Amino acid sequence: MRVACIQKSLLRILHLYPNHMNLYGDRGNVIALQHRALLRGMRVEVINGEPDQPIVWQDVDLIFMGGGEDTHQARIADDFLRRAPELTRVLEDGIPMLAICGAYQLLGHYYRTVDGQKLPGVGFLDVTTEAGRPRATGDVVAQTSLPITPRSLVGFENHGGRTFLGTGAIPLAEVQLGQGNNGQDRTEGAMYKHTIGTYLHGSLLPKNPHLTDLLLGWAVDPAGNAMAPLEPVPMELELRAHDVILNRR
Ligand code: GLN
Repeated sequence: MRVACIQKSLLRILHLYPNHMNLYGDRGNVIALQHRALLRGMRVEVINGEPDQPIVWQDVDLIFMGGGEDTHQARIADDFLRRAPELTRVLEDGIPMLAICGAYQLLGHYYRTVDGQKLPGVGFLDVTTEAGRPRATGDVVAQTSLPITPRSLVGFENHGGRTFLGTGAIPLAEVQLGQGNNGQDRTEGAMYKHTIGTYLHGSLLPKNPHLTDLLLGWAVDPAGNAMAPLEPVPMELELRAHDVILNRR
């Protein structure tokens, strides 16, 4: 039977490699998740996942990993790959993950850096990435097929990687402004289960509170037992920031 709302007192966010993978305000995503969880009376614990440190995967409700320069990606790539079996298990179970840019690339099959170094990825998302020139930089506006209102997502991109989706991943959104995955097919990001990979920095979530709430909803209800897992809380202020970028289309 489906319940109306989920009551959860503690939300545990795993922030992977915060000291290596954190560009253009990516940490703001964790702050936005914390803020909107606190508004709903949840206590929030942020667990930093550093290289070679043990992670208690069954204690994790939501995973976040930010972007990084090629050199930083290369530093954490082996550690990330070693964690692939446990990470894959929790993601298959519906635990949500938001992976930005460099993290998105490493959640795919591989990322070939601008120097030609091939960094094997976890392969949870069916995407591959090759670095190219010029870099894609600037504001992004895209329309998502996710069941959220508004449908628009806004952010800022800065990446050399061109990402192409295989048949096992669906695009997060269709690009209206900016380059997105590869500057060719107008797709932005990729999704599978409750995992979202995207090129949108900015930070992304402070300007997209509707996406923040979707991730929080998945975190409290990974199996999808609730009709509307979270109580609504105001988002007008965040949507004003959203609209500033939206109006640059
Ligand atoms: N180094 C990667 C690229 O240039 C990722 C950059 C990022 O995370 N912003 O494509």
